[in-house]
Amino acid sequence: MSLGAIFRQIIIAANQSSSYMKSRSLVYHDIHSDNCYTNMSTSLDMFIKHINIIREMGFKIVSEITKDEGQIQLTFDDGFLGIYDNISVINELDLPVKLFIITSFIGKPFHLDKNQLVELSNNPLITIGSHSHSHRRLNTLDKGELRYELTYSKKILEGLVGVPINDLCYPEGKFDKRVVKIARDVGYINQYSLIPGAFLTELFKNVRRRSLVQYANKKSFKSILKGGDDILERWYIKKHFKL
Ligand SMILES: [Zn+2]
Repeated sequence: MSLGAIFRQIIIAANQSSSYMKSRSLVYHDIHSDNCYTNMSTSLDMFIKHINIIREMGFKIVSEITKDEGQIQLTFDDGFLGIYDNISVINELDLPVKLFIITSFIGKPFHLDKNQLVELSNNPLITIGSHSHSHRRLNTLDKGELRYELTYSKKILEGLVGVPINDLCYPEGKFDKRVVKIARDVGYINQYSLIPGAFLTELFKNVRRRSLVQYANKKSFKSILKGGDDILERWYIKKHFKL
């Protein structure tokens, strides 16, 4: 774990927040048992501990957050293979999950291929969103490149899974006001950032908050569910958002 990640755990665990039971969207990259495809992956053992904590605290895990309190959404960025390998666990635990797919990575080593993605999308527990076409930082692109990243990815995914793709997740969490506007213009209803906080407290219209939990131990995880990472909001905005 990096020094930044350790520092993050300490800050989160120490913070007492009042926004207990606010609905939150959580970020993972992958889960693993035997084969681990990325160092951002969470062990199955830890992931199951997280799920138990969510449920013991009285939250309901949902596909889409509709209420201010009591709901948790699970999201996975980048489309790694571990979610496919461990789909029996997702099914057994009855876990709705949202997968954000980088369309140019489909079929690349350690990533879902077309058939696996289609198979997953047919599972009623799984919804698919776009994580752009090539995972470039959207706030560094010119208008033409930006439109291409967002529309091409949407088109590919809609062609594969056969339903409208309404959700976009920013690569590396980076965005600016222009990204928000163009994403909205090309048809994304919800945009997912990496800025922590209660889900329905919008940053901008339809720009959602999420909490990174992939490395969280039990103590940090419990704290995050109580808003322990809300304290990092300003730091994330500074790091991820440009006007
Ligand atoms: Zn990503």
